[in-house]
This record gives sequence, structure tokens and C-alpha cells, in this order.
Amino acid sequence: MGRVLAIANQKGGVGKTTTSVNLGAGLALAGHSTLMIDLDPQASATSGLGIHPQEVGASVYHALIGERSVDDIIRPTQVDNLWVMPASRDLIGAEIELVPLPRREYRLQQAIAALRHRFEFVIIDCPPSLGLLTVNALSAADAVLIPLQCEYYALEGLSALLDTIGFIRQGLNPSLGIEGLLLTMFDTRNSLAHQVLNEVRQHFPDQVFKAVIPRNVRLSECPSYGVPAMVYDASSRGAKAYAALTEELVQNAVRR
Ligand code: ADP
Ligand code: MG
Repeated sequence: MGRVLAIANQKGGVGKTTTSVNLGAGLALAGHSTLMIDLDPQASATSGLGIHPQEVGASVYHALIGERSVDDIIRPTQVDNLWVMPASRDLIGAEIELVPLPRREYRLQQAIAALRHRFEFVIIDCPPSLGLLTVNALSAADAVLIPLQCEYYALEGLSALLDTIGFIRQGLNPSLGIEGLLLTMFDTRNSLAHQVLNEVRQHFPDQVFKAVIPRNVRLSECPSYGVPAMVYDASSRGAKAYAALTEELVQNAVRR
């Protein structure tokens, strides 16, 4: 049975997509069959894996609406063992179109039910909001991985996200866990970043990944080549950090 992880934080620009793409690639390179679901209408994970969102016919939107079978939607990527359920522009309307549908919070869970047996890991790249798309991701997930940017306002908004996770546990998905908090865009030369790192570790002693993702230019330039940094330049600091995260996450899964 595959493990489904939602990469979520309603703040934009904290590293959700970069984490989804590189963790997905890391797991796949380590030999784990992995599916990445792009649940953000901006489709940056889709393009980061080399697929032009305009060329996407069937997308996660059609899975949510129930118009197409997931087999028509998922496709392999340039990375062995890594598959993607792409996003398309249609997804922009999904937050509204889902509202009148039956079991609107469970559409993704239902759509991927059969896929969970085919993949060891399913990674869901969430949009920067706590709307119905993210709720669908949290209802479908076993656990949430929360990227936090190492800056002054890192913890701002985290309580809203934790509240949402609490609500989801009370009703839609009682077994939803927190996979961990991931510190991203860490700048060693910035004393504030060190301060933020210490503060987050103090607040959440057992929930912060040991792996910390540095600010690294390779991670920001790779999306334009449509290849994960893990593949494009495995020796870069960013790729090495995501490799360490991958290993930590797999070890945690073994222990569980
Ligand atoms: P989100 O999905 O949360 O909006 P992204 O992963 O798209 O965040 O990251 C926001 C921007 O920062 C992107 O341009 C991305 O390339 C860049 N970025 C993300 N992580 C890093 C990093 N560790 N070092 C440098 N740039 C990064
Ligand atoms: Mg994103």
C-alpha cells in the first residue's frame, strides 16, 4: 500500500513545488515507484517535470470531476520510476466547480484509491491556499509534509495550517499524520536563518526533519529546464539536501 504525502503550506513561495519535484525524483531514483500529483492550478510541478501545461489534455482536474479514468491521466516522466498526474488550466475553476459535487472533499481520495496499490509513494503538490483543493489533498493523504521558509515570518500562518489539519482529523481523515516540518531556503550566512531554525526546532522538537534545504541557485534554475535538480545536477548542494531528506523520510517509513 503506497504512502500518500501532501506537501502543504498555504503560503506561496515556501518551497512546496521544489520539494514535491525533488523529493519525488529522489524517491524514484532510490528505486521507489512514485507518483507526483500536481494539484496547483499554476502547474509549476507539471512544467518542472518537462510537461507544458497547455499541452496537457487529461489532467488531475478530470480525475476530480470524475470525467476520466486515472489511467488516461497519469504518465511517465524522464525520471525512471517517477510518474506524474499533471495539472492543466482547467484546475483554476475546480475550487468552485467541486462545491456542488457529492463528497466534494473526497474526490481526490476516491480518484487515486486504485493507484495507491501501484505506487510506493504518492506526493501531492498543494496550491497556496486552504481551499477545497488542499482539503482534498489532506483527505486523501496519510501525512502532511510542511515546508517552512527560513525567514522571519516562517511560523506565520502555521497555526492556521495546523488548525486545518485538526479539523480534517476530526472529520474527514482521522488518521492524517504530520510527516514533518522541512526548513527550506536556508542561508548559512544569514544569522536570522539560524535563529528561525532554532526557534522552529524548539517549538516542534520531534517534528522537524534533520535535513535542511539550503538556498541554492540550482534548485531555482532547474524548473526552466524541466528537469529536477536531483537529476540535472546531483552534486549540487540543493540536490544533496533533497537526497538526505529522501533517505530520512524512507528511514522514518521503515520505522513506522
Ligand atoms: P511554492 O510551491 O511553495 O510556491 P516554490 O517551490 O515554487 O514554492 O519556490 C518558490 C521559488 O523559490 C521558486 O522560484 C523556486 O525555484 C525557488 N526556490 C525554492 N526552493 C529554493 C531553494 N532551496 N533555493 C533557491 N531557490 C529556491
Ligand atoms: Mg508551488
